[in-house]
Amino acid sequence: MKKHNFSAGPSVLPQEVINQASKAIIELDNIGLSLIEISHRSKEFISIMEEATERVIKITGLENKGYKAIFIQGGASLQFLMTAYNLLEKKAAYINTGTWAVKAIKEAKIIGEVNEIASSKDKNFNYIPKDYSVPQDADYIHITTNNTIFGTQYKSFPNTTVSLIADMSSDIFSRKIDYSKFDLFYAGAQKNMGPAGVTLVVIKESVLSKVSREIPSMLNYNSYIKAGSMSNTPPVFAVYTALLNLRWIESQGGLEELEKRNKNKAELLYNEIDKNPCFEGFAAKEDRSHMNVTFTLTDKSLSDDFNKIWEDNNISGLKGHRSVGGYRASIYNALPIESIELLVKCMKQFEKNFK
Ligand SMILES: *Cc1c(COP(=O)(O)O)cnc(C)c1O
Repeated sequence: MKKHNFSAGPSVLPQEVINQASKAIIELDNIGLSLIEISHRSKEFISIMEEATERVIKITGLENKGYKAIFIQGGASLQFLMTAYNLLEKKAAYINTGTWAVKAIKEAKIIGEVNEIASSKDKNFNYIPKDYSVPQDADYIHITTNNTIFGTQYKSFPNTTVSLIADMSSDIFSRKIDYSKFDLFYAGAQKNMGPAGVTLVVIKESVLSKVSREIPSMLNYNSYIKAGSMSNTPPVFAVYTALLNLRWIESQGGLEELEKRNKNKAELLYNEIDKNPCFEGFAAKEDRSHMNVTFTLTDKSLSDDFNKIWEDNNISGLKGHRSVGGYRASIYNALPIESIELLVKCMKQFEKNFK
């Protein structure tokens, strides 16, 4: 029986996407060949790549606004370096909301001057800093819109004329936001978009070609744009499966509908955390993520007992990251509300057993 999958990433995908992707491995659209044995220069794959990038621009509402969507390998982690390589001339501002931001800052420092303008480190990153000013002479400001490990999420974005760029790995396509506020955003596919192996980058083309350094072609956004993400062989399976998921997003009613569902799902779980004396939420209430819900037991000595309940109920991937401890329920787009209802039932069962 298929498990209820709360994994933080790689993570749950819609079952119909898994089914269609498996079929394409055997044979793509009745062409007599597998998806993974055709040339990436074939008309079939070129059309897959074009449709994927078009759908990204359409879903994010960025048509006719000068944006390009590209697919790159190397994970969101390579983007920590690439963003700085392509955009940092003198100085960049970063907001530090935990592990991923820390890594982004570390890479950017290799390239130029980094101003960490705000941090929530003082409280083990359980909130989003709100009190800061953005230096007007910064080349850009970098944020992480959702903090996968700590379970915090920006509900509004820095209001600034400085170029805003964001790591959206764990909440891309989860809500309807004004994507045109961002000059560049990126997301590793394996949280809310597809399988591991590809990263989506969406860029306003006018912000490129401004730095004076020479950029190696595999690190240069311009070369990916010019070649339609095919300057070398793209990860064909990951791109195709991401496309299937983009089609799924549209078939469900787009970001507005997914946002509504995600909000309902998150509220159901947070309500139980707040109501049930056996549990405590980790993130500050106003910054709670609708994608990664972090919580702990009030009596940690009972963790084996709680673990047994949810494991016996066919739930998987609930253990928290080691830097927070406790539990993390990742409740991405494709996780059905039934999985959350079951988790809430387990939490109620636990309360009954140990009160
Ligand atoms: C998972 C994650 C990353 C790292 O992604 P890779 O694709 O493994 O490099 C970066 N940022 C955020 C917010 C993440 O959740």
